[in-house]
Amino acid sequence: MSDPNAALKVLPAHTEHPRLFQANKFVYPVLSRRSRGISVGINLNPDKVCNFDCIYCQVDRRSAAVTRFVETERLLAEVEEVLELVSSGGLYRDERFTGVPGPLRRLNDIAFSGDGEPTTFRNIPSIVADVAAIKARRGLDAVKLVMITNASMFHRPGVQRALATLDANNGEIWAKLDAGTERYFQVVDRTTIPFERVLLNLRDAALLRPLVIQSLFMRVDGAGPPLDEVAAYSDRLNEILNAGGRLARIQVYTIARPPAESAATPLAPREVDAIAEEVSRRVGVPVESYYGASS
Ligand code: SF4
Repeated sequence: MSDPNAALKVLPAHTEHPRLFQANKFVYPVLSRRSRGISVGINLNPDKVCNFDCIYCQVDRRSAAVTRFVETERLLAEVEEVLELVSSGGLYRDERFTGVPGPLRRLNDIAFSGDGEPTTFRNIPSIVADVAAIKARRGLDAVKLVMITNASMFHRPGVQRALATLDANNGEIWAKLDAGTERYFQVVDRTTIPFERVLLNLRDAALLRPLVIQSLFMRVDGAGPPLDEVAAYSDRLNEILNAGGRLARIQVYTIARPPAESAATPLAPREVDAIAEEVSRRVGVPVESYYGASS
């Protein structure tokens, strides 16, 4: 079922998500549609390297990286500064945030995201623990700690420790699943990692806590996802549920910012809704839809 809130007007700040904020290298606030408020992003991949090469990726890899390495102390200081800016209201004096309406002036989450796959960062367990400690010290228990991920590394012990820290700190895992078949997975996500690896990781993670699944559907060379692909995608989700896994909700969305490949273009809102309704019917988990930039 599509979410009526998704039809809310898309504000300019919703579609402008630069990873750079003031002089920061790693931490950036955004107005997030999916968070329905402010999300403080943490970029663990400033080198812009990713183990997927999604055709819809919004990371601008034509421009050089500002920095290649994560500087832990600086990153944590930036987290403190941005959280202070949000809680003091100073953020809304920044020209990119002055137009944010009152109801959206709320800090929803701190999200590990950025210009690549955050779980490939080798110090992921300790950085998640450090950020969780800052969140706890500032009394932000209601603020979520989110990992936005392609689920390709969940089998690594260090990543599992990081996800356990998330679980203990009002965490949510927003895990990507864009396909139902290996063939379409390779068309869309372009990686050497087998689809089966991702599916096993999703299942095993969902056995431990409810996952949020985020799925981008689009046109490729003018054609939307085939109906049988949406059916296969729903089957993969049902396999997770049938194995005892839990899914909190599914986010069906489309392209909102310039993609890596011009062959990838957004679906119309009614097409996003049609997929969301089909997935809801087949899987029986709450489905939210998010439209492209012009809707
Ligand atoms: S996984 Fe994310 S960062 Fe990596 S290529 Fe895909 S969309 Fe881009």
